[in-house]
Amino acid sequence: MIVAANWKMNPAFRAAGDLAAAYRADHYDNVTRILFAPHPYLVPIGVRLQDSDIILGGQDCHQNAAGAHTGDVSAGMLSECGARVALLGHSERRTAHGETDTLVASKAEQAFAHGLNVMICVGETLAHREAGQALDTVLRQLEGSIPAHLPTTALSIAYEPVWAIGTGKVATTGEIGEMHDAIRRWLDDAGHEQTSILYGGSVKPENAAEIFAVPHVDGALVGGASLLADQFAGICRAAAGV
Ligand code: PEP
Repeated sequence: MIVAANWKMNPAFRAAGDLAAAYRADHYDNVTRILFAPHPYLVPIGVRLQDSDIILGGQDCHQNAAGAHTGDVSAGMLSECGARVALLGHSERRTAHGETDTLVASKAEQAFAHGLNVMICVGETLAHREAGQALDTVLRQLEGSIPAHLPTTALSIAYEPVWAIGTGKVATTGEIGEMHDAIRRWLDDAGHEQTSILYGGSVKPENAAEIFAVPHVDGALVGGASLLADQFAGICRAAAGV
């Protein structure tokens, strides 16, 4: 089981150090924890997490190696600042920054070229789901966002229905199971048998165990609940219990 914290543009600097220290104080058998920290925090949080079992990740990277890209961060910079994985194609980036599948694939290539693993997010909007297009949407995103030749061990997928992110609405276990099953089959057919599939969208300690029990759910990408040490710990405990 993988439990990944996506802090997004949170928390304040001092609180971030305290939160990382709280994560560090815990250990869970058979659970891999990843922390996607804001870029300016990678180095100081990396110092806090030194010699811990928590893997540090960046929340995005640019599709080019270097150049005139004000405000952007390269995959090489993430790597040199201690990140081991890049979170790419999160729905907030797809929506707020107009990121397309093609762009996400370029970023993934760049990340892999700099020694990073990649976690690629996919997920349908409510409109897609209500129109019966959830499966097609997600499979199209997989097809377009995963670069050719990316090794299966370097890739993980986070299925995050857009309508469940930060809303408190969680997909039913039936909806999660159907989607994870379809993603699993697509990945296996594409030679990505070892790629893990995480679920994301309002995962909390109260619903985590039930979600982790769904076949082909290999972990969770956690936003809001990752900002509270107790809540994140509760989700990790549920993952350890599977
Ligand atoms: C996310 O942003 O990746 C996420 C899953 O957020 P939340 O847990 O707050 O829904």
